[in-house]
Amino acid sequence: MTDLTEQLARLRARIENAARVADRDPTEVRLVAVSKTRDSDEVLAVAAAGQRDFGENRLQEALDKIAACQQQPLCWHFIGQLQANKTRQVAEHFDWVHSLDRLRIARRLSEQRPGSLAPLNVCLQVDLGGETQKAGVAPDVTSELAHAVAALPRLRLRGLMCLPPAPDAPGDSRPYFRRLRELRDTLRAEGLDLDTLSMGMTADLEDAIAEGATLVRVGTALFGPRNP
Ligand SMILES: *Cc1c(COP(=O)(O)O)cnc(C)c1O
Repeated sequence: MTDLTEQLARLRARIENAARVADRDPTEVRLVAVSKTRDSDEVLAVAAAGQRDFGENRLQEALDKIAACQQQPLCWHFIGQLQANKTRQVAEHFDWVHSLDRLRIARRLSEQRPGSLAPLNVCLQVDLGGETQKAGVAPDVTSELAHAVAALPRLRLRGLMCLPPAPDAPGDSRPYFRRLRELRDTLRAEGLDLDTLSMGMTADLEDAIAEGATLVRVGTALFGPRNP
């Protein structure tokens, strides 16, 4: 457990260093600890070291962990593919969804978000080409989807997310991150109030921060390698 505290400190130092190199304020970069495949004791250990944001990609696994950690004031981010028949539980139990790519899903999330909770924060996942998973909205229709999502009453559109193919070398992800930032800038110029670029993982968080990431999603560098 001390080990996780140390790993968290190391990861935070890495993020701060990347921000400094990019001439950015480190407090502009939020860390989401990706706790998929990890158990609730590991989440609680990282939470005890001050980490608040956690990311999950499988709903049932996440719901069990959220229940086990409910004494802690944690912020839960859904980062996996979202099926229409699972939206209600996401709307009821999460604070953020990063992987929104269809209006039908967005409408359901908005309708199902409980009135007792703040609007659900959402990012649109953009498919910038060559992605590892077949998820994400195509860049040329992102604007249309963004304006439709921004109009839904119980969602708050925060920004864009991408998941480039695993890089072979430092710098490989950077063109993807740059394109996501440019797309965000275009949407802002169209009047959308977007404050989030969700991009960068263990292998490429420096490139993401250099291109303006405001939120990095990191698992391996914190928890160690995942079992398959
Ligand atoms: C697993 C995952 C991450 C974290 O990946 P690491 O390489 O372990 O840091 C980030 N984003 C998404 C969408 C993921 O599925």
